[in-house]
Amino acid sequence: MECAGNGRGTRCIGPARRRCGRCGAVAYCSASHQISHWNDHKEECERLEQQMKRVDALNDLPFTFSEEATVQVCEKQETRCSFLRKRGIHFVGMWTCECSCGLSVASFEHARSKDDGWDLASTLCPCSEPSSPIKSLCSWKDYYEWRSIPLHSPIALLLHWPLTIYYATQVTGLRSFSSIISNKLIIHYLGPEKELLQLAVFGELRALFPGVQVHIELIGPAIPQHRDGEKINLCSYAHCTDADCICKSSSDNFDRSLGTVRSSAVTLQLHKGFYHDLL
Ligand SMILES: [Zn+2]
Ligand SMILES: [Zn+2]
Ligand SMILES: [Zn+2]
Ligand SMILES: [Zn+2]
Ligand SMILES: [Zn+2]
Repeated sequence: MECAGNGRGTRCIGPARRRCGRCGAVAYCSASHQISHWNDHKEECERLEQQMKRVDALNDLPFTFSEEATVQVCEKQETRCSFLRKRGIHFVGMWTCECSCGLSVASFEHARSKDDGWDLASTLCPCSEPSSPIKSLCSWKDYYEWRSIPLHSPIALLLHWPLTIYYATQVTGLRSFSSIISNKLIIHYLGPEKELLQLAVFGELRALFPGVQVHIELIGPAIPQHRDGEKINLCSYAHCTDADCICKSSSDNFDRSLGTVRSSAVTLQLHKGFYHDLL
């Protein structure tokens, strides 16, 4: 985290290790920067405090990486690396950051985008339209059944991002908001990091919100400067590895030329910075 008092008068004296004791959402290098930023921060502090409480609630969701998907790792004392290796996805593509090997070397600077796929066979991943309409999903089991995917598939590791968004809209009653009634859902997604290397999985929101235009603003300091403001149009689901699968018939997963009229259900936009500084 960057010192929130950075750039105001005196220079920072080191890493920002002092968090605001109330909201916990901002951090400072020193007491003096904390004091000098208070005038700015006091107005946002309470709002951020409320937001951080919600973050905690979201961490308990049934769609965060859960029992059903971790059961093998827990029961057999299997490491994350060997779990991924057995499935041929260790240190591969979107899975790179799912174990410590990848996390330590990952650079968000060169976030892939165009050719991202599941690196799994079509039977193991949701690479095309669902075969049946969505019903209410309460667990990973519901989700896997709906998408006809066997429970041993590791996709939950990556899908917890879109599924958490789905679940959050269910529990917060967002569905009754006017925004979704007009078939538009706008989401502020804060502090993305490894998600930047996994953006193709957000394509699954097409299946989770049929007929809805979903737009996600990804806001965070990890977004590289040169990608600030970038718009990404997710025109399809992340692909499988089967050469003859129907998911290959749609040309591009990403279309950066948003200037052309191409109505897609899911768009993303990247913003470098901190949420409170962008409002
Ligand atoms: Zn600030
Ligand atoms: Zn500072
Ligand atoms: Zn605060
Ligand atoms: Zn590993
Ligand atoms: Zn496929």
